[in-house]
Amino acid sequence: MAKLGQLGELVNRKRYGGRTDLLVLQGTPFCNLDCTYCYLPSRDDKRRMSHETVAAAGRWMARAGLAAKKMTVVWHAGEPMVLPRDWYARAIDILNETLGKNTKITHAFQTNGVLVNEEWCRFFRDHKIKVGVSMDGPAVIHDAHRLTRSQIGTFKSVIKGYRLLAHEGLDPTVIAVVSKTTLRHKDAFIRFFDDLNPRQLGLNFEEQEGENATSTLDTANDREMEQFLTKLVGHALRTGRPRLREMEAMIQVLRYSGKPRALRHQENTPFRIVTIDADGGFHTFSPELAGAAVANFDGSPFGNVFQDSLSDILADPRFRDTQREIDLGVAMCAQNCKYFRICGGGGPSNKLGESGRFDIAETRHCQISMKLLSEVILSEIEQSLRKDTGKTKIDLK
Ligand code: SF4
Repeated sequence: MAKLGQLGELVNRKRYGGRTDLLVLQGTPFCNLDCTYCYLPSRDDKRRMSHETVAAAGRWMARAGLAAKKMTVVWHAGEPMVLPRDWYARAIDILNETLGKNTKITHAFQTNGVLVNEEWCRFFRDHKIKVGVSMDGPAVIHDAHRLTRSQIGTFKSVIKGYRLLAHEGLDPTVIAVVSKTTLRHKDAFIRFFDDLNPRQLGLNFEEQEGENATSTLDTANDREMEQFLTKLVGHALRTGRPRLREMEAMIQVLRYSGKPRALRHQENTPFRIVTIDADGGFHTFSPELAGAAVANFDGSPFGNVFQDSLSDILADPRFRDTQREIDLGVAMCAQNCKYFRICGGGGPSNKLGESGRFDIAETRHCQISMKLLSEVILSEIEQSLRKDTGKTKIDLK
């Protein structure tokens, strides 16, 4: 029986080995802010991942063979900077000891930026940690949503933190949540990020998922959204500022000249992203699914790094049902959607958040973030090509 178990692990290792290039570790579920659109279900919970759990997570990933040769560990799913630096110093050593032999690990923090100071900058530099700051634009946009627990806007402290990171040579990226407020102040948004010019600006369109039961981006804003994106993308193409994550990704797709790939979105591919929560609970697919209780999906882990093997997780009926339903949704996307080649079937957390199930294709989120945005990017690229070379049309079909 034991031999059979070992054989099963070997087969799974062969099938899934080296697949995880993003490991999300939830040092704590707690967040010091109270943003209006936050999806985190336990942001009041001050639990902290123990170092025994960090070690168990590292050993588990090594034993299962899931970690890719190069893997990013993102400390997130709560505000990472509320934990002390010496806790991270030990956690990083533990991960290097347990997992670093066959995997090159890059650590990354996605932070709200309010606690950045010189000591943190030194720590980031000493440990070669990449830093991403969540900032929605100038105060008039940012302070409408990103609030302290006493409901005060955080722009002043975030921009101070961002500028300190930049001054210290840490070259932070920025993720901005795009909401109805952004559309109202689109020119101010573009001016602000043109001036700030972060290494990369990612657009996160406000999502209906987890604790954020509704999004301000309803269909009534479609025209305004198109105007905003056209202005932003046109400006970025003409001036090179801001460097938009989404545009860089689209240009990579256009540049790709190999055979068409069986592309799938990393969030709907099992074990591409692994999230381990503060108690060692094992989650995969979209990180936002960890703890997100919607309809029949209760957000609980598929297993725990202290007691379950990869084979146990693969055999778990809940994992199998979730994967089957996600695969059905992806198959519907592949069959019906001309954007599949660049999208890969969307994020399960958006499908669940909007409809209560995974086996659907289109979501409001993909209408904006994939369909509309890629059409705007393509049409702006076409226009600039036309200026140089005459009539040119890019078609995704
Ligand atoms: S754009 Fe939407 S419908 Fe199309 S593949 Fe992506 S998730 Fe599916």
